[in-house]
Amino acid sequence: MAGRNHLYIPGPTNTPDSILQAMHVSMEDHRSPIFPELVKPVLADLKKIFQTETGTAFAFPATGTAGWEIGITNTLSPGDKVLSYRFGQFSHLWIDLAKRLGLDVEYTEVPWGEGVPLDHLEERLKQDSAHEIKALLICHNETATGVTSDLAGVRKALDAANHPAMFYVDGVSSIASLDFRMDEWGIDVAVSGSQKGFMMPAGLALVAFSEKALAARESAKCTRGFLDIKDHLNANPGGYFPYTPSTPMLYGLRESLRLLLDEGLNNVFARHQRLAEGVRQAVAAWGLTLCAKEPKWYSNSVSAVVVPEDINAQDVISTAFNKYNLSLGGGLSEVAGKVFRIGHLGDLNELSLVSAIAGVEMAMLDNGIKIEAGSGVAAACEYWRKTA
Ligand SMILES: *Cc1c(COP(=O)(O)O)cnc(C)c1O
Repeated sequence: MAGRNHLYIPGPTNTPDSILQAMHVSMEDHRSPIFPELVKPVLADLKKIFQTETGTAFAFPATGTAGWEIGITNTLSPGDKVLSYRFGQFSHLWIDLAKRLGLDVEYTEVPWGEGVPLDHLEERLKQDSAHEIKALLICHNETATGVTSDLAGVRKALDAANHPAMFYVDGVSSIASLDFRMDEWGIDVAVSGSQKGFMMPAGLALVAFSEKALAARESAKCTRGFLDIKDHLNANPGGYFPYTPSTPMLYGLRESLRLLLDEGLNNVFARHQRLAEGVRQAVAAWGLTLCAKEPKWYSNSVSAVVVPEDINAQDVISTAFNKYNLSLGGGLSEVAGKVFRIGHLGDLNELSLVSAIAGVEMAMLDNGIKIEAGSGVAAACEYWRKTA
């Protein structure tokens, strides 16, 4: 098919040309005396994206899923109690992984379309006067439903209960797109991946540990081999890795960090907020709703759009791909067939999103969804024109 594929899944996201070019390098000696000139600034700048000064950042050759495991196995022991909430496919998978690693996972089912219920959390923490709960596993941005939870609120609940549990966050689809303040919010383990807000191929698990999390390593008894941070703690300060790193990915990461920091994190967050709001204006103009039930849950990196009951969202996604070369995200698990997702994170601007909104309109009309042609495009454009 002529023309570029329009990639609007919530990850992998579009990779800027400068990152692609930065990755186009000859192989080199990763034990050379000049290699640390690449590695040290990259790991230092990575901390800025997590908004941590006291934490330590790691880059593992893996994906976000491994980041969950890195966080757990380096800080906890089998049988440790952790608290979580299940409100989408990603929170579900993290809970499942924690169980497989032998943790005692206490989790509460939350309707898909909502996020962490802060009152419930605070109450549960207050009940736990013996401090049996060792950690919270919180999915910041549930990519399956387009729901963002309030991490500052989670910290407040911990403080209100005066509870010492460690605070772990899945920030795979939020970090580098949505505001994420590791130090300020007292986050102990932050997990991300390269293919979402970082605008790179999949292949790096980007993780940060607080001082408290690093100290917890001493007594953590979960089995760990390749994912032990100890080997990184030994090698990284000198500017090296404990094994062969993917040098193209490190060059790509360096360029990704340069782009993000040059734009300025607050500008990156504001751009995501404004672009996301344009998409929401389009959804409203179509007369449709989001899976996220209330504005307080709206995600600025992905919108899950609910289709009318007599329509299979998968048909809209197929038409978009086959007829218009537009890739949308599907509904996962409980919301399969009920929603399609528009990823709006990473390397985007108004006009790139117009192509996604226009393609969605055509695919919906083709599948018998009664919307007014052009209504979503008009609503988004008007919003962006007035807020530029
Ligand atoms: C994409 C995603 C993951 C999984 O990351 P992989 O890189 O695919 O392993 C985990 N959590 C969230 C919230 C995600 O969006």
